[in-house]
Amino acid sequence: MRLSDDGALTIPDFAGNLFFNTLGNILENGLAGLVFADFETGAPLPLSGDAEVLLDSPETAAFQGAERLWRFTARRIVYRQDALPLQWTSRSEGASPNSLMTGNWRQAAERMKAAALANAWRTFRVSRIIDESEAIRSFHLEPADDAGLVPHEAGQHLPVRVTLPSEAKPQIRTYTLSVAPSDGVYRISVKRDGRVSAHLHDTLKTGDTIEARVPAGDFTIDPFEQRPAVLMAAGVGITPMLAMLRHVVYEGLRKRRIRPVWMIVSAHSLASRAFAGEIDALARAAGGAVHVIRVLSDTRGAELARDYETSGRIDIDLLTSRLPFNDYDFYLCGPGVFMQTLYDGLRALDNPMRAFTRKRSARRRSSVRRIAARTRNRCAPPRPGP
Ligand SMILES: Cc1cc2nc3c(=O)[nH]c(=O)nc-3n(C[C@H](O)[C@H](O)[C@H](O)COP(=O)(O)OP(=O)(O)OC[C@H]3O[C@@H](n4cnc5c(N)ncnc54)[C@H](O)[C@@H]3O)c2cc1C
Repeated sequence: MRLSDDGALTIPDFAGNLFFNTLGNILENGLAGLVFADFETGAPLPLSGDAEVLLDSPETAAFQGAERLWRFTARRIVYRQDALPLQWTSRSEGASPNSLMTGNWRQAAERMKAAALANAWRTFRVSRIIDESEAIRSFHLEPADDAGLVPHEAGQHLPVRVTLPSEAKPQIRTYTLSVAPSDGVYRISVKRDGRVSAHLHDTLKTGDTIEARVPAGDFTIDPFEQRPAVLMAAGVGITPMLAMLRHVVYEGLRKRRIRPVWMIVSAHSLASRAFAGEIDALARAAGGAVHVIRVLSDTRGAELARDYETSGRIDIDLLTSRLPFNDYDFYLCGPGVFMQTLYDGLRALDNPMRAFTRKRSARRRSSVRRIAARTRNRCAPPRPGP
C-alpha cells in the first residue's frame, strides 16, 4: 500500500485477496476499519475512517493482476502498546507471494514511466545468460534507463534491434518473452539459427546492452478461462507456451483455481529439449491441474517414462489417444509443417468427434473450441485446409 502526503492509504486489489464482500460494503457505506499488527511487538494498530473503491484509476494497470484500487483515510487511530501478549517471527519466505507478484508502488511508477516510452527503442542490459539446450540460450534483460518494465501478456514477443558488425543498417527480429508477466523480468530464449540469432549467441555477454521495443502480439492466453487449454509446442515454439504455462499456474495459485492445462512438448532429442526442469516444477506446483506429455523424435539415450512419454511427433492420433473427452482451447507454436498439419487435423476432427460423442452421450462432448496458433514467421492462424 502507499501512504500519501495527505495521509491516505491506497491499496491494489485483485479477486484472490478475497476482499469482494468488503469492497461491496465500502461501495454501500464508504466506511472501513483496518487493523495492522506489529508482528515483532504484538502491538495492534486499529484505524477507522473513510474508504472508497477506485474502479478506473490508470494506476491499476501498473500492478500485475490488480483489478482495482481502494483508498482509505483514517479518522481515528489508536495505538495499543503491549495490548497482545503474542509475538510473531517472520518465516524464511517472508512476504506473501501474492503481494510479491502484484509488485510495489515504486515498480508501478516505473511502469507508468515506461508506458510513456511505448514507441521508442529502449536500451536493456543483459543481466543473466542461461543455456537451456544445445541450441537455445536465454537472455534476461533489465531496463538500462530509469524507467521500468512495461508489463507484457503471456505469449507476447519483444521486437529486438541489432546492428551486425558488417552492416550499416540495423536488423529487427522478434523473440517471445518466455516468462510470465509476474516474473518481473524480461527473458528471451533464442535458438541459434541464422545471422541475428547466431550473433546474439556469439557476442552477447552479461552486462552488454541491446535495444528493444515494448512487447507486442495477440497470441495470448486467458488464465481464468474455465475450459482446459492444450498447449502444443515443437522446438523453440516452446517459448510462448512456457510463458503461458507460467502465467496460468501463477494466477491460478493466486486465485486458488488453476485452469487445467495439457502441455504437449516435442523436441528432436534430449540434448535439444529446453526447459524440461522448469515445466516439471510448474506441473508439480500446480498439483494435478497441469498434465505434461513429452515427445521425442530421437529417443537415443532417453528412457521411457523418465525422459519422455511418447516417441515420434505430436499428431492427431496422439491427441485423440491421450486427451480425455472435453472441450478444449488449443494453442500451437512451432515450425510451419507442424502447425499446418495439426491445424488441419484439429479442424477436421471437430465435427466428426462432436457427432460421434453426441450419439453416445450428450455430456461426453469433445470439441475444438478455439485454435490459436503461431509459427515462426507468421502470427496469423495457418490457412484452413481444403
Ligand atoms: C512472433 C515471433 C516470435 C518469435 N519468437 C522466437 C523465440 O522465442 N525464439 C527464437 O529463437 N526465435 C523466435 N522467432 C524467430 C526469430 O524472430 C528469428 O526469425 C530467428 O531467430 C531467425 O533469425 P536470424 O537472423 O537468426 O536468421 P536469418 O538470418 O533471418 O535466417 C532465417 C532462416 O533462413 C535461413 N537462411 C538465411 N539465408 C539463407 C540462404 N541464403 N539460403 C538458405 N537458407 C538461408 C537461416 O539458416 C535461418 O534458418 C520468433 C519469430 C516471430 C515472428
